[in-house]
Amino acid sequence: MNVMGEQNQERGSSGMGGPPLTDEERTRYQRQLGPGVLTEEGQARLKRSTVFISRVGGMGGPAALALAMAGVGRIIFAHGGRLELADLNRQVLGSEQGLGKPRAAEFAACLRQKNRLVTVEAIDREPDDAEAVALAGRADLVISAAPTFAERLRLNRAAVACGVPLIDAAQWGMTGTLIAVKPRVTACLRCVYPQDPPFEEMFPVIGAISGAVGSLAALEAIKILSGVGQSTFGSLLLIDGYRGHESRMQLQRNPTCPCCSSLQRFSPMSREASRD
Ligand SMILES: [Zn+2]
Repeated sequence: MNVMGEQNQERGSSGMGGPPLTDEERTRYQRQLGPGVLTEEGQARLKRSTVFISRVGGMGGPAALALAMAGVGRIIFAHGGRLELADLNRQVLGSEQGLGKPRAAEFAACLRQKNRLVTVEAIDREPDDAEAVALAGRADLVISAAPTFAERLRLNRAAVACGVPLIDAAQWGMTGTLIAVKPRVTACLRCVYPQDPPFEEMFPVIGAISGAVGSLAALEAIKILSGVGQSTFGSLLLIDGYRGHESRMQLQRNPTCPCCSSLQRFSPMSREASRD
């Protein structure tokens, strides 16, 4: 952790105010400030933001990298296990020098080397239900880049419970999907998948699609946190890289969804509403 990161307000993307950008930050981020990209206030919002990412492997790694380089103030990630040779076709935060070492420490070091202004917190395990809720509660946005549907659902439940936007990224082979959830307003992951999809332990995947989906997840996060651009809440992006086809479909909330149907829209005084 660094001094500037420690000074960051832990969750602060909502509302105006907070410390302005430093001269160093204006220089560092000058290529992403201006028409068509971020406003200075948008950049300052990123600086005040906390993102929780579960798994920073094939998809979450490129997402975390893009968020760190873009200047998100605090990145909290969860990733257990040790780095294996078969991870290196897609896990960009790892390297051959890190083989056999705990991934959390390796990946955190990689992110810190990219941007020392960003505070990185690494958790070396998959969070359980209570921990997922606690981490989502500290974040302004959650990115799920988890390999199992059970973990994706856990992050969905946590984000919905906390009223925090969720970006769900998934991949198989040369195909990827991306869903942006605005809790209690747009469809959640359980609305989209009433039944668990089939799962295979060692599913195939190529790093190019992981990186594409992860980078797009980061772009959605940057837009939502900075308030710049149009978010894609309530839709599913399907990238079929095998056939070279992309499509987007609008999602409907399931009125009987066991995760989100009993929850009402936020009141105008709520934190979520204040972020609009
Ligand atoms: Zn739902």
